[in-house]
Amino acid sequence: MSINSKSSKYFNRLENILIIGNGGRENSLAWAIQKNELVNKVYLIPGNAGSERINKCERINIDLNNKIELLEKLEFLKIDLIVIGPEIPLANGLADFLRKKEFKVFGPGKDGAKLEYSKSWAKEFMRDADIPTASFWKVNSLEEAKKIIHSSSVPLVVKADGLASGKGVFVPDSKDECFKAAELIFNGKFGKSGKMVVLEEKIQGPEVSVFALCDGKKYVLLPTAQDHKRLEEKDKGPNTGGMGAYSPAPLITKDHLDEIIKTIIEPTIDELNKKNIDYKGVIYFGLMITESGPKVIEYNCRFGDPECQTMMPLMDKNFVFLLEKCSMGNLIGDEKIDIKDEVSGCVVATSKGYPYEYKTGFPIKIGKIDSKSCQIFDSGTSSGKKGELLTDGGRVLSIVCQEKDFDMVFEKAYKNLKEINFDGIYFRKDIGHQVRKNFSNKS
Ligand code: AMP
Repeated sequence: MSINSKSSKYFNRLENILIIGNGGRENSLAWAIQKNELVNKVYLIPGNAGSERINKCERINIDLNNKIELLEKLEFLKIDLIVIGPEIPLANGLADFLRKKEFKVFGPGKDGAKLEYSKSWAKEFMRDADIPTASFWKVNSLEEAKKIIHSSSVPLVVKADGLASGKGVFVPDSKDECFKAAELIFNGKFGKSGKMVVLEEKIQGPEVSVFALCDGKKYVLLPTAQDHKRLEEKDKGPNTGGMGAYSPAPLITKDHLDEIIKTIIEPTIDELNKKNIDYKGVIYFGLMITESGPKVIEYNCRFGDPECQTMMPLMDKNFVFLLEKCSMGNLIGDEKIDIKDEVSGCVVATSKGYPYEYKTGFPIKIGKIDSKSCQIFDSGTSSGKKGELLTDGGRVLSIVCQEKDFDMVFEKAYKNLKEINFDGIYFRKDIGHQVRKNFSNKS
């Protein structure tokens, strides 16, 4: 069920906001939302230790699966708007449940989240809407996969159909590696998420992320971004959740964007409508700019991490209104978003060993950080017994800076990163290499 503005519980009030999630993305959303003077309190379920450093923020420890307790708490706190950060609660239908209880929710229902939680469904969706994307084969068994890999005249990419924390995609260099990837998935590496496999034509080109805030019918675009998924410098090594990002992405010209709107964004929203999916949330378009134009690599049903941390400082205090309008189906569609006339860059600091095995519980020391246009958003931290800040994840925190140009941004980010330390800290030194004029090691 979708709510309209009149049936919403606390129509036109934005005092108490709830954000669901525990990462850097959610902390940056909380940071951007609390800037509005109408907002009195931002609650996070569960947030992390870094949430406690953000103005007006408070963490709530509650099990999202305990629906009775959850509802009681939301009523008690008089929550006016709920923003759901990660894909798993969205895929589990949390937004549907809360909307049925008449809360204003930013985040799609289970039907819309399928754009992310089933790669085969998303590919069929794109085929139905004639949206440019790599050609694909949906396979249900290793035998079937082997046949297609064997006979394919183009290089292939192998993907587990369901959610796999960004680890279910293999970009092999040979047919042999393709077989191995398919075998790994069908042998249960990703559990139920790997019951089906999508084989895709391998396409080439730089990648860029585009974000549309959608109210079901209309949308507004946020600045573009580019992230660095690989662990090592020169974009080498294993894929990670993201080692850094920058926004906007200068690679996307006005002409590109016009083409992306015409061939990808609007057909996506039209197709959602055709399929009766009332999508109220952000659509993340992961695109590749190929020689034959922009193509969709993936959809996500939530903000990217660390792109979100990178973009949020560019938003003005009215950002929360956009989220609210989406939740109520009230976008005009040509809202002027006040975006800071600067560029933003983000560098992620990780634990030694990430994205494989790593240890946690190391104290984090934070020295003197620039107070202007420089933020730290924690991704995986906790508080020790004496309240000290400890590492508690693979990606520990990100430093985000805004300046007039990318050289200044990354100079500032790396200078401030020197003030942060924990045992085993690792970060890439070449984030934003594509856009840093003074970067000597351009690849
Ligand atoms: P995904 O999780 O689908 O975004 O895939 C993760 C990464 O794998 C992307 O960011 C791309 O770098 C790469 N990738 C995915 N699909 C393709 C494809 N069809 N061709 C080439 N690279 C791909």
